[in-house]
Amino acid sequence: MKKLLFLLLSISTLSFAQPKPVKIFISVDMEGIGGIGTPAMVSSSGKDYATGRKLMTEEVNTVVKAIFQTGPATILVNDSHGDMQNLLHTELDPRVEYIQSNIKPLGMVQGLDASFDGVIFIGYHAMAGAENGFLAHTGSGVVKGLWLNGTEVGEGGLNTFFAGSIGVPVILTKW
Ligand SMILES: [Zn+2]
Repeated sequence: MKKLLFLLLSISTLSFAQPKPVKIFISVDMEGIGGIGTPAMVSSSGKDYATGRKLMTEEVNTVVKAIFQTGPATILVNDSHGDMQNLLHTELDPRVEYIQSNIKPLGMVQGLDASFDGVIFIGYHAMAGAENGFLAHTGSGVVKGLWLNGTEVGEGGLNTFFAGSIGVPVILTKW
């Protein structure tokens, strides 16, 4: 009887010590990152692209750090801008898993499935045609407008729709 009690206590202690990690998906675009204010910062041929990459990486790290401050987490970061090779992986928080390059059927939401607890979109930007929107566009830029069930949306709206369709809530957005 004593042994059984000890075993039960051990299990309950273990579950308190190691709560189930929250599983978060982060899709990161570039135009909406804090501190980015010129096209030269978001184009790989731009003179200030190095600054843009650094700002983008730092913003992801800030969000990742905040998530880990709440407890254990499993985080997948999907690079979602241009050729999708923008983040400085050598400076990225080593606790995340990182997807880069743009050969992805689901693009900005590649890797997102129903197993995630939440989705975060950072660095997102105004949709195509948005008045006074900084570098406003949708997708490749040739798209002039996109409607979902009669509502005009941009990349953020489209990806939110996808996340919702598989039952994963968007918990933080910035666009
Ligand atoms: Zn972009």
